Amino acid sequence: MSITDNLKALKEEIESVNVRLVAVSKTKPNEDILEAYQLGQRIFGENHVQELVDKHESLPKDIEWHLVGHLQTNKVKYIAPFISLIHSVDSLKLLIEINKQAIKSDRIIDCLLQVYIADEETKYGLGYDEVIELLESQEFQELKNVRIVGLMGIATNTENPKQIKEEFYELKTLFEGVKLSYFKNEASFKEVSMGMSSDYKIALEQGSTLVRIGSDIFGKREIKHFKNTEE
Ligand SMILES: *Cc1c(COP(=O)(O)O)cnc(C)c1O
Repeated sequence: MSITDNLKALKEEIESVNVRLVAVSKTKPNEDILEAYQLGQRIFGENHVQELVDKHESLPKDIEWHLVGHLQTNKVKYIAPFISLIHSVDSLKLLIEINKQAIKSDRIIDCLLQVYIADEETKYGLGYDEVIELLESQEFQELKNVRIVGLMGIATNTENPKQIKEEFYELKTLFEGVKLSYFKNEASFKEVSMGMSSDYKIALEQGSTLVRIGSDIFGKREIKHFKNTEE
């Protein structure tokens, strides 16, 4: 199957239920991205800041770039001028830095809080109590140049669909609770970023609004790049 065939089938499946597709193009060359672009794909996700900056510079300017991987505070400045959505905010410290760089670029940067839902030690993300703590903090209230538009989670890498389903269900439930408590009147708080190549069908059933799919579109990546915790 070609990128074109893969993407056509996926777009149909995903867009028919009104969910948006983030095409995760990390490690893939510009020509692959352009093939997807020709089919109308405009949202692309990367997890390496340098690679993201290079691709942003060399590819069409109407691409919406999303950062899906872990972000170090000292790298925020490189993406602040153009990033459309940061999926991986996992600390107040990082959010404060994003706000600072957003001010310099005269922008408001959309972010998702990454929530730890997996049964694995290596994954980044905030615990449920940490999400609440962050949203209640005085420091957070003062940040005017970041906008939290939802939550993101990565399920456990397991063959057990029941476990994945429960993890996505919990994320969606947390999202509903957070929306009621903190974003009731903000229509922009609407995103639940969950689902990758191996588990997006379950994510769609559990109410995902943004799926992040790489290998099902572009083919397998080199093993050394496979971790989703890279930044
Ligand atoms: C790489 C990556 C994806 C896409 O993974 P695939 O299994 O190739 O679909 C999704 N989310 C994050 C955070 C990633 O790092």
